[in-house]
Amino acid sequence: MTRASKPEIWFLTGSQGLYGEETLEQVAGQSLRIQQLLAASGGLPAEIVGKPVLTEASSIRRVLQEANADASCVGVIAWMHTFSPAKMWITGLDSLRKPLLHLHTQLNEALPWSTIDMDFMNLNQAAHGDREFGFIQTRLGVPRKTVAGHVSDPAVVARIDAWARAAIGADHLRNLRLARFGDNMRDVAVTEGDKVEAELRFGVSVNTYGVNDLVEQVDSVSEKDTVESLVGRYADEYNVVPDLAAGGARHESLRYAAKIEAGLRKFLTDGGFGAFTTNFEDLGGLRQLPGLAVQRLMADGYGFGGEGDWKTSALLAAVKAMSVGKSLGTSFMEDYTYHFGPGTPKILGAHMLEVCPSIAAAKPSCEIHALGIGGREDPVRLVFDAAPGPGVVLGLVDLGDRFRLVANEIEVVAPDEPLPNLPVARAVWEPAPSLSTSAESWITAGGPHHTVLTQAVGTETLRDFANLLGVELLVIDQDTTPHGFADRIRWNQAYHRLAQGF
Ligand code: MN
Repeated sequence: MTRASKPEIWFLTGSQGLYGEETLEQVAGQSLRIQQLLAASGGLPAEIVGKPVLTEASSIRRVLQEANADASCVGVIAWMHTFSPAKMWITGLDSLRKPLLHLHTQLNEALPWSTIDMDFMNLNQAAHGDREFGFIQTRLGVPRKTVAGHVSDPAVVARIDAWARAAIGADHLRNLRLARFGDNMRDVAVTEGDKVEAELRFGVSVNTYGVNDLVEQVDSVSEKDTVESLVGRYADEYNVVPDLAAGGARHESLRYAAKIEAGLRKFLTDGGFGAFTTNFEDLGGLRQLPGLAVQRLMADGYGFGGEGDWKTSALLAAVKAMSVGKSLGTSFMEDYTYHFGPGTPKILGAHMLEVCPSIAAAKPSCEIHALGIGGREDPVRLVFDAAPGPGVVLGLVDLGDRFRLVANEIEVVAPDEPLPNLPVARAVWEPAPSLSTSAESWITAGGPHHTVLTQAVGTETLRDFANLLGVELLVIDQDTTPHGFADRIRWNQAYHRLAQGF
């Protein structure tokens, strides 16, 4: 799953004609310096593309409409280098559909105390030029992120990076096609949702396919070339148990798992899909519930949700896109069972089979075990523990009149003891601020049991992502208390119902 083109962030610089040509040349030069500093920081996941200094309404409108139309442009940074009278920005900003970041900065870090004169003052007046710009954004109700500080400060770059990742995720979601093999697991509530509203709000197009369309692809995979080469890769990348390895008693099961992977990959590639769901109640002619194949496709950036859960699948695809360039992983996850003590209370998360090896602490083991659910042949799967470290668990629910995101900051930890009898990949984590407050808050928010666990994308990116989609995000972190969180849900409920009318 890679983009056709490198994502671009357009850098717009506001000024006005009053200053004269010479000053505007200085403005352009200083803007270029800022862009170069940002690019040289190495901290941004997109290419910074500078545009000529903007000094009047028609060119502002034109460049913002070009940003809307350009598929490579995932977002726009605006900086009012000098004073750019903001009425010039009204019609342009009103038409902007791409994410906006308002960078409030200036080129010089220190004031030249002993030499400062009125020429310097007139050239370096973002301190009030950007306030004029802030006013018009607020007056128009333009969603944006405001970042203030000097671009040599890593904290400033980190805040821009967080937003750029959110913009990339939103862009991915806007263009995402999602294939469901079968429908929802019967009678399950939280995995249902409004696919029409999702396409309007997020862009993702969700459609169902007969699982036997997939089976047709799986059955036509070439044994000699494709299966041979995949089985070879499994042997390189995983510790394949002797039973499954070439010459082993159950090697045929591994070969069939490879056929599922190749068939599924071809189906998704041919259809231009970036995410999918499966449902163990509807496996058609598939001989195994897809385990290994789903795990490997997730590792390549595909979104996935079990039991027909298209919302979590789409969210996973978006978070995967946001983590571009990061070595840390992101997976489909389910809260499974608890350790209340002794020691710090913990959650053990897993799924029947489908946990992404991008979060693995060590080389996964490729194993085969019985699985009562699904009623098919024993499925092949990767088994591993998740790597310790900070992360976030994120869930998406449909409240009927709107969507809600819920996030919990967590610390993935090593299991207290080895888990030799657990035949699935798993993550063990300590949720902030405590298991009881986390679980009480999550459940009060109506958060789902299927989630995205990410170690690659932080809370700031997720906040930016929610803001630019116009979706509520409730964060459970070190500062959360159950009463405060319940109050926040009530206030948010009122706000989001009112905001829908705007
Ligand atoms: Mn599940």
